[in-house]
Amino acid sequence: MRVLLVGAAGFIGSHLAERLLREGHEVVGVDNFSTGQRRNVRRLQSFSGFTLIEADASKPLNIEGPLDWVMHFASPASPPRYMERPVETILINGEGTRHLLDLALERGAKFFLASTSEVYGDPLVHPQPETYWGNVNPIGPRSVYDESKRYAETLTMAYHRAQGLSVRIVRIFNTYGPGMDPEDGRVVSNFIVQALRGEPITVYGDGSQTRSFCYVDDLIEGIRRLMDVEYSFPVNLGNPEEHSVHELAQLIKDLTGSPSPIVFRPLPEDDPRQRRPDIRLAKMLLSWEPKVPVQEGIRRTIAYFREVVMV
Ligand code: NAD
Ligand code: UDP
Repeated sequence: MRVLLVGAAGFIGSHLAERLLREGHEVVGVDNFSTGQRRNVRRLQSFSGFTLIEADASKPLNIEGPLDWVMHFASPASPPRYMERPVETILINGEGTRHLLDLALERGAKFFLASTSEVYGDPLVHPQPETYWGNVNPIGPRSVYDESKRYAETLTMAYHRAQGLSVRIVRIFNTYGPGMDPEDGRVVSNFIVQALRGEPITVYGDGSQTRSFCYVDDLIEGIRRLMDVEYSFPVNLGNPEEHSVHELAQLIKDLTGSPSPIVFRPLPEDDPRQRRPDIRLAKMLLSWEPKVPVQEGIRRTIAYFREVVMV
Protein backbone atom coordinates (compact mmCIF):
# COMPACT_ATOMS: atom_id res chain seq x y z
CA MET A 1 0.00 0.00 0.00
CA ARG A 2 0.93 3.66 -0.36
CA VAL A 3 -0.11 5.72 2.68
CA LEU A 4 -0.16 9.50 3.09
CA LEU A 5 0.55 10.20 6.75
CA VAL A 6 0.08 13.82 7.73
CA GLY A 7 1.79 14.75 10.99
CA ALA A 8 4.54 12.13 10.46
CA ALA A 9 7.14 13.97 12.56
CA GLY A 10 4.85 13.96 15.58
CA PHE A 11 4.81 11.58 18.49
CA ILE A 12 1.96 9.29 17.38
CA GLY A 13 2.35 9.82 13.62
CA SER A 14 6.00 8.72 13.68
CA HIS A 15 5.15 5.51 15.58
CA LEU A 16 2.43 4.62 13.11
CA ALA A 17 4.71 5.44 10.17
CA GLU A 18 7.33 3.07 11.56
CA ARG A 19 4.75 0.32 12.02
CA LEU A 20 3.52 0.67 8.42
CA LEU A 21 7.07 0.80 7.04
CA ARG A 22 7.97 -2.37 8.96
CA GLU A 23 4.95 -4.05 7.35
CA GLY A 24 6.49 -3.18 3.98
CA HIS A 25 4.17 -0.34 2.95
CA GLU A 26 5.24 2.92 1.38
CA VAL A 27 4.70 6.00 3.57
CA VAL A 28 4.61 9.55 2.28
CA GLY A 29 5.00 11.68 5.39
CA VAL A 30 3.88 15.31 5.53
CA ASP A 31 4.77 17.72 8.33
CA ASN A 32 5.48 21.41 8.84
CA PHE A 33 7.46 20.77 12.06
CA SER A 34 5.33 23.20 14.06
CA THR A 35 5.26 20.77 17.00
CA GLY A 36 7.03 17.80 15.36
CA GLN A 37 10.61 16.72 15.86
CA ARG A 38 13.44 16.09 13.40
CA ARG A 39 14.65 13.17 15.54
CA ASN A 40 11.35 11.33 14.97
CA VAL A 41 11.79 11.65 11.22
CA ARG A 42 15.45 10.59 11.30
CA ARG A 43 14.29 7.25 12.69
CA LEU A 44 11.99 6.83 9.66
CA GLN A 45 14.52 7.85 7.05
CA SER A 46 16.40 4.57 7.41
CA PHE A 47 13.45 2.87 5.64
CA SER A 48 13.57 2.97 1.83
CA GLY A 49 9.77 3.22 1.66
CA PHE A 50 9.67 6.58 3.45
CA THR A 51 9.55 10.00 1.84
CA LEU A 52 8.99 13.32 3.58
CA ILE A 53 7.26 16.40 2.26
CA GLU A 54 7.66 19.53 4.37
CA ALA A 55 4.40 21.44 3.95
CA ASP A 56 1.53 23.10 5.79
CA ALA A 57 -1.41 20.70 5.51
CA SER A 58 -3.94 23.45 6.25
CA LYS A 59 -3.51 24.22 2.56
CA PRO A 60 -4.11 21.79 -0.34
CA LEU A 61 -1.16 19.42 -0.81
CA ASN A 62 0.44 18.56 -4.09
CA ILE A 63 0.86 14.78 -3.86
CA GLU A 64 1.61 12.69 -6.90
CA GLY A 65 0.75 9.05 -7.48
CA PRO A 66 -1.83 6.67 -6.07
CA LEU A 67 -2.87 6.64 -2.40
CA ASP A 68 -4.55 3.80 -0.52
CA TRP A 69 -4.95 5.60 2.82
CA VAL A 70 -4.93 9.26 3.82
CA MET A 71 -4.21 9.54 7.56
CA HIS A 72 -4.60 12.87 9.36
CA PHE A 73 -2.57 13.18 12.57
CA ALA A 74 -1.52 16.81 12.11
CA SER A 75 -2.52 19.16 14.92
CA PRO A 76 -0.85 20.51 18.00
CA ALA A 77 -1.97 18.13 20.76
CA SER A 78 -0.60 19.54 23.99
CA PRO A 79 -2.78 22.21 25.66
CA PRO A 80 0.02 24.83 25.98
CA ARG A 81 0.99 24.23 22.35
CA TYR A 82 -2.51 24.57 20.90
CA MET A 83 -3.29 27.58 23.07
CA GLU A 84 -0.13 29.30 21.73
CA ARG A 85 -1.37 28.58 18.18
CA PRO A 86 -5.15 29.05 18.38
CA VAL A 87 -5.87 29.95 14.77
CA GLU A 88 -3.37 27.48 13.28
CA THR A 89 -5.01 24.73 15.37
CA ILE A 90 -8.46 25.58 14.03
CA LEU A 91 -7.13 25.72 10.47
CA ILE A 92 -5.35 22.35 10.48
CA ASN A 93 -8.36 20.61 12.02
CA GLY A 94 -10.88 22.52 9.89
CA GLU A 95 -9.44 23.46 6.49
CA GLY A 96 -6.74 20.78 6.73
CA THR A 97 -9.31 18.05 7.30
CA ARG A 98 -11.42 19.31 4.38
CA HIS A 99 -8.47 19.28 1.94
CA LEU A 100 -7.38 15.81 3.07
CA LEU A 101 -10.94 14.48 2.72
CA ASP A 102 -11.02 15.90 -0.83
CA LEU A 103 -7.70 14.26 -1.59
CA ALA A 104 -8.91 10.89 -0.28
CA LEU A 105 -12.07 11.19 -2.36
CA GLU A 106 -10.13 12.09 -5.50
CA ARG A 107 -7.72 9.12 -5.11
CA GLY A 108 -10.31 6.61 -3.92
CA ALA A 109 -8.40 6.28 -0.61
CA LYS A 110 -9.62 5.39 2.88
CA PHE A 111 -9.54 8.42 5.22
CA PHE A 112 -8.42 8.30 8.86
CA LEU A 113 -8.96 11.08 11.42
CA ALA A 114 -7.03 11.28 14.70
CA SER A 115 -9.72 12.75 16.95
CA THR A 116 -9.54 13.09 20.70
CA SER A 117 -11.16 12.43 24.06
CA GLU A 118 -11.31 16.25 24.27
CA VAL A 119 -14.50 16.07 22.18
CA TYR A 120 -16.09 15.01 25.51
CA GLY A 121 -14.81 18.23 27.15
CA ASP A 122 -15.18 18.22 30.93
CA PRO A 123 -17.36 15.10 30.89
CA LEU A 124 -20.50 14.71 32.98
CA VAL A 125 -20.71 11.01 32.10
CA HIS A 126 -17.99 8.73 33.43
CA PRO A 127 -16.38 6.69 31.91
CA GLN A 128 -17.03 8.16 28.46
CA PRO A 129 -18.71 5.95 25.83
CA GLU A 130 -18.77 7.00 22.15
CA THR A 131 -22.48 7.76 22.51
CA TYR A 132 -21.81 10.62 24.97
CA TRP A 133 -22.07 14.02 23.22
CA GLY A 134 -19.76 15.86 25.59
CA ASN A 135 -19.62 19.00 27.71
CA VAL A 136 -17.48 21.54 25.88
CA ASN A 137 -17.12 25.28 26.48
CA PRO A 138 -17.34 26.62 22.90
CA ILE A 139 -15.46 29.86 23.65
CA GLY A 140 -13.00 28.75 26.37
CA PRO A 141 -9.23 28.62 25.83
CA ARG A 142 -9.36 24.89 25.01
CA SER A 143 -12.16 25.34 22.46
CA VAL A 144 -9.73 25.98 19.59
CA TYR A 145 -8.80 22.32 19.90
CA ASP A 146 -11.97 20.68 21.23
CA GLU A 147 -14.38 22.40 18.88
CA SER A 148 -12.16 22.10 15.81
CA LYS A 149 -11.79 18.35 16.44
CA ARG A 150 -15.57 18.12 16.82
CA TYR A 151 -15.93 19.95 13.51
CA ALA A 152 -13.36 17.61 11.92
CA GLU A 153 -15.47 14.63 13.02
CA THR A 154 -18.63 16.31 11.64
CA LEU A 155 -16.95 16.98 8.31
CA THR A 156 -15.59 13.43 8.11
CA MET A 157 -19.04 11.96 8.76
CA ALA A 158 -20.54 14.34 6.17
CA TYR A 159 -18.10 13.10 3.47
CA HIS A 160 -18.92 9.56 4.46
CA ARG A 161 -22.69 10.10 4.30
CA ALA A 162 -22.87 12.41 1.30
CA GLN A 163 -19.99 11.11 -0.84
CA GLY A 164 -19.69 7.51 0.32
CA LEU A 165 -16.07 8.02 1.41
CA SER A 166 -14.64 5.19 3.52
CA VAL A 167 -13.63 6.78 6.85
CA ARG A 168 -12.18 5.81 10.24
CA ILE A 169 -12.29 8.06 13.31
CA VAL A 170 -10.40 7.35 16.53
CA ARG A 171 -10.95 9.32 19.73
CA ILE A 172 -7.52 9.06 21.31
CA PHE A 173 -7.25 9.30 25.10
CA ASN A 174 -4.03 10.57 26.76
CA THR A 175 -1.21 8.61 25.15
CA TYR A 176 2.44 8.65 26.15
CA GLY A 177 5.73 6.96 25.33
CA PRO A 178 9.11 7.35 23.63
CA GLY A 179 9.08 9.99 20.88
CA MET A 180 7.13 12.56 22.89
CA ASP A 181 8.56 16.04 22.81
CA PRO A 182 10.23 16.64 26.20
CA GLU A 183 9.25 20.31 26.03
CA ASP A 184 5.67 20.15 24.83
CA GLY A 185 4.12 20.66 28.23
CA ARG A 186 2.03 17.52 28.64
CA VAL A 187 1.86 15.95 32.04
CA VAL A 188 3.88 12.76 31.45
CA SER A 189 6.74 14.51 29.66
CA ASN A 190 6.79 17.42 32.12
CA PHE A 191 6.90 15.17 35.19
CA ILE A 192 9.60 12.84 33.81
CA VAL A 193 11.83 15.67 32.61
CA GLN A 194 11.40 17.55 35.91
CA ALA A 195 12.18 14.40 37.90
CA LEU A 196 15.28 13.61 35.82
CA ARG A 197 16.57 17.15 36.15
CA GLY A 198 15.87 17.24 39.89
CA GLU A 199 13.49 20.19 39.38
CA PRO A 200 10.16 20.54 41.21
CA ILE A 201 7.37 18.35 39.80
CA THR A 202 4.55 20.78 38.99
CA VAL A 203 1.09 19.43 39.85
CA TYR A 204 -1.66 21.78 38.62
CA GLY A 205 -4.53 22.28 41.07
CA ASP A 206 -4.61 19.81 43.96
CA GLY A 207 -3.77 16.90 41.63
CA SER A 208 -7.06 15.08 42.27
CA GLN A 209 -8.13 15.42 38.61
CA THR A 210 -7.80 12.12 36.77
CA ARG A 211 -6.55 10.89 33.41
CA SER A 212 -6.16 7.43 31.88
CA PHE A 213 -2.75 6.92 30.30
CA CYS A 214 -2.27 4.65 27.30
CA TYR A 215 1.16 3.45 26.16
CA VAL A 216 1.77 4.34 22.51
CA ASP A 217 2.32 0.76 21.26
CA ASP A 218 -1.15 -0.19 22.49
CA LEU A 219 -2.71 2.77 20.69
CA ILE A 220 -0.90 1.97 17.43
CA GLU A 221 -2.14 -1.62 17.57
CA GLY A 222 -5.73 -0.39 17.99
CA ILE A 223 -5.44 2.08 15.09
CA ARG A 224 -3.89 -0.58 12.87
CA ARG A 225 -6.72 -3.02 13.58
CA LEU A 226 -9.41 -0.39 12.96
CA MET A 227 -8.07 0.30 9.46
CA ASP A 228 -8.89 -3.30 8.48
CA VAL A 229 -12.43 -3.29 9.87
CA GLU A 230 -15.52 -1.81 8.17
CA TYR A 231 -16.69 0.78 10.71
CA SER A 232 -17.17 4.50 10.03
CA PHE A 233 -18.23 5.90 13.39
CA PRO A 234 -15.82 7.15 16.08
CA VAL A 235 -14.07 4.58 18.27
CA ASN A 236 -12.47 5.33 21.65
CA LEU A 237 -8.90 4.07 22.06
CA GLY A 238 -7.21 4.47 25.42
CA ASN A 239 -6.32 2.70 28.60
CA PRO A 240 -9.23 2.55 31.06
CA GLU A 241 -6.86 2.43 34.05
CA GLU A 242 -7.48 5.80 35.70
CA HIS A 243 -5.02 7.72 37.90
CA SER A 244 -5.04 11.08 39.61
CA VAL A 245 -2.38 13.51 38.49
CA HIS A 246 -0.94 13.44 41.99
CA GLU A 247 -0.60 9.63 41.84
CA LEU A 248 1.22 9.99 38.52
CA ALA A 249 3.66 12.51 40.03
CA GLN A 250 4.41 10.12 42.88
CA LEU A 251 4.82 7.14 40.52
CA ILE A 252 7.30 9.05 38.35
CA LYS A 253 9.18 10.27 41.41
CA ASP A 254 9.45 6.66 42.65
CA LEU A 255 10.44 5.14 39.30
CA THR A 256 13.13 7.76 38.64
CA GLY A 257 14.33 7.74 42.25
CA SER A 258 14.28 11.53 42.00
CA PRO A 259 14.76 13.89 44.95
CA SER A 260 12.41 16.43 43.24
CA PRO A 261 9.73 17.90 45.50
CA ILE A 262 6.10 17.80 44.30
CA VAL A 263 4.79 21.39 44.15
CA PHE A 264 1.31 22.72 43.39
CA ARG A 265 0.52 25.35 40.71
CA PRO A 266 -2.79 26.93 39.61
CA LEU A 267 -5.14 24.71 37.64
CA PRO A 268 -5.56 25.90 34.01
CA GLU A 269 -9.03 27.14 33.00
CA ASP A 270 -11.52 24.44 31.92
CA ASP A 271 -9.11 21.63 32.84
CA PRO A 272 -11.29 18.46 32.74
CA ARG A 273 -11.88 16.92 36.20
CA GLN A 274 -11.87 13.34 35.07
CA ARG A 275 -11.32 11.26 32.00
CA ARG A 276 -11.50 7.55 31.31
CA PRO A 277 -12.46 5.74 28.12
CA ASP A 278 -15.24 3.23 27.87
CA ILE A 279 -13.54 0.79 25.47
CA ARG A 280 -16.28 -1.79 25.11
CA LEU A 281 -16.76 -0.89 21.44
CA ALA A 282 -13.03 -1.30 20.61
CA LYS A 283 -12.97 -4.63 22.48
CA MET A 284 -15.93 -5.94 20.50
CA LEU A 285 -14.95 -4.54 17.11
CA LEU A 286 -11.18 -5.05 17.21
CA SER A 287 -10.65 -7.68 19.93
CA TRP A 288 -8.34 -5.01 21.34
CA GLU A 289 -7.40 -3.84 24.78
CA PRO A 290 -4.26 -2.21 26.17
CA LYS A 291 -1.54 -4.62 27.26
CA VAL A 292 1.16 -2.39 28.76
CA PRO A 293 0.63 -1.54 32.44
CA VAL A 294 1.30 2.07 33.36
CA GLN A 295 4.36 1.25 35.52
CA GLU A 296 5.98 -0.57 32.60
CA GLY A 297 5.08 2.10 30.04
CA ILE A 298 6.37 4.88 32.28
CA ARG A 299 9.58 2.93 32.84
CA ARG A 300 10.18 2.67 29.08
CA THR A 301 9.37 6.37 28.65
CA ILE A 302 11.80 7.33 31.42
CA ALA A 303 14.53 5.34 29.63
CA TYR A 304 13.80 7.30 26.44
CA PHE A 305 13.88 10.68 28.16
CA ARG A 306 17.12 9.78 29.95
CA GLU A 307 18.67 9.37 26.50
CA VAL A 308 17.31 12.51 24.85
CA VAL A 309 17.21 14.94 27.78
CA MET A 310 20.23 13.99 29.86
CA VAL A 311 22.84 14.26 27.04
P1 NAD B 1 2.45 15.99 18.03
O1 NAD B 1 2.40 17.47 18.27
O2 NAD B 1 3.66 15.24 18.48
O3 NAD B 1 2.24 15.68 16.48
C1 NAD B 1 1.49 16.48 15.62
C2 NAD B 1 2.28 16.65 14.33
O4 NAD B 1 1.50 17.41 13.38
C3 NAD B 1 3.59 17.42 14.54
O5 NAD B 1 4.65 16.74 13.92
C4 NAD B 1 3.33 18.76 13.87
O6 NAD B 1 4.49 19.40 13.40
C5 NAD B 1 2.35 18.37 12.77
N1 NAD B 1 1.53 19.50 12.32
C6 NAD B 1 0.81 20.35 13.07
N2 NAD B 1 0.20 21.28 12.29
C7 NAD B 1 0.55 20.98 11.02
C8 NAD B 1 0.26 21.58 9.75
N3 NAD B 1 -0.52 22.66 9.64
N4 NAD B 1 0.77 21.01 8.63
C9 NAD B 1 1.59 19.91 8.72
N5 NAD B 1 1.90 19.32 9.88
C10 NAD B 1 1.39 19.85 11.02
O7 NAD B 1 1.14 15.37 18.69
P2 NAD B 1 0.71 13.85 18.88
O8 NAD B 1 0.59 13.60 20.30
O9 NAD B 1 1.52 12.96 18.02
O10 NAD B 1 -0.77 13.91 18.29
C11 NAD B 1 -1.07 13.46 16.97
C12 NAD B 1 -2.58 13.55 16.72
O11 NAD B 1 -3.27 12.76 17.69
C13 NAD B 1 -3.13 14.97 16.84
O12 NAD B 1 -4.10 15.16 15.84
C14 NAD B 1 -3.76 14.99 18.21
O13 NAD B 1 -4.83 15.89 18.27
C15 NAD B 1 -4.23 13.56 18.36
N6 NAD B 1 -4.33 13.16 19.78
C16 NAD B 1 -3.20 12.92 20.53
C17 NAD B 1 -3.34 12.56 21.89
C18 NAD B 1 -2.16 12.23 22.75
O14 NAD B 1 -2.36 11.90 23.93
N7 NAD B 1 -0.93 12.26 22.29
C19 NAD B 1 -4.61 12.50 22.45
C20 NAD B 1 -5.71 12.78 21.67
C21 NAD B 1 -5.56 13.09 20.33
N1 UDP C 1 -0.76 18.82 34.46
C1 UDP C 1 -0.05 19.00 35.65
N2 UDP C 1 1.24 19.42 35.58
C2 UDP C 1 1.89 19.63 34.40
C3 UDP C 1 1.19 19.40 33.19
C4 UDP C 1 -0.14 19.01 33.27
O1 UDP C 1 -0.60 18.82 36.75
O2 UDP C 1 3.08 20.00 34.43
C5 UDP C 1 -2.16 18.34 34.55
C6 UDP C 1 -3.15 19.12 33.70
O3 UDP C 1 -3.63 20.26 34.40
C7 UDP C 1 -4.22 18.07 33.47
C8 UDP C 1 -3.44 16.75 33.41
O4 UDP C 1 -2.20 17.02 34.05
O5 UDP C 1 -5.09 18.02 34.57
C9 UDP C 1 -3.19 16.27 32.00
O6 UDP C 1 -2.62 17.32 31.26
P1 UDP C 1 -2.10 17.20 29.77
O7 UDP C 1 -1.72 18.58 29.33
O8 UDP C 1 -1.07 16.16 29.66
O9 UDP C 1 -3.35 16.66 28.92
P2 UDP C 1 -4.93 16.98 28.89
O10 UDP C 1 -5.54 15.70 29.27
O11 UDP C 1 -5.26 18.06 29.87
O12 UDP C 1 -5.16 17.39 27.49
